[in-house]
Amino acid sequence: MAYSLNVCHLYGDLMNTYGDLGNILVLKYLANQMGVGLTSEVVSLGQPFDPTKYDIVVFGGGQDFEQSIVSKDIQTKKTALTNFIEDNGSVVAICGGYQLLGHYYIGANGEKLLGIGALDHYTDKQKDHRFIGNVVIENEETGERYHGFENHQGLTFLGKGERPLGKVLEGHGNNGQDQTEGAIYKNVYCTYFHGPILARNNQIAKHVLVNALTRKYPDADLSQPEALKVGDTF
Ligand code: GLN
Repeated sequence: MAYSLNVCHLYGDLMNTYGDLGNILVLKYLANQMGVGLTSEVVSLGQPFDPTKYDIVVFGGGQDFEQSIVSKDIQTKKTALTNFIEDNGSVVAICGGYQLLGHYYIGANGEKLLGIGALDHYTDKQKDHRFIGNVVIENEETGERYHGFENHQGLTFLGKGERPLGKVLEGHGNNGQDQTEGAIYKNVYCTYFHGPILARNNQIAKHVLVNALTRKYPDADLSQPEALKVGDTF
């Protein structure tokens, strides 16, 4: 195939609740439909993240225990991941992964787990409560509606440069207070949706693939080769 993308499944062996791995299967399926090859590999504890090797990072959700291990290790990858994000690398981060891209996450037992602060949000704890259930949101720029399932105790508050993935129409979203769900920063898509999100919301997969292809092949005409027909295939 003339075009190919390489996905880093960040801590894929530890952070993969509710089938978040399915997001990579969806990316691969849809990329192949576009005539684009897609490979993936897990980068986990003690392994460096080389930003020049990857076009997309997928960072799934996790329980507090796994997050406490990842919180320590990810500090060694902080600069490389931040550079990748600042250089318009594409990221899909779910729940626990979303939390650890921000400044910190307060676990259910009150422990403060450091994130990498690549994005400006932070996540507080709820008092003996979790948000569990279906969510429907609407992205205010595109008008697209996304459907998902949330299960988190963390309350996330967005910061500088971040806009929500959508406005909450049903469910709780980031914190149950400001009607925001998820975050978009540059080419980073964050969300509390498990499910996996990309299987139910192909439009987001399309944005991620197109962003990654545009960055890797700036001269490619994405509307041209049948390979890159990104409209109707979704
Ligand atoms: N442990 C985090 C929380 O409860 C993230 C959960 C998840 O990834 N599903 O908020």
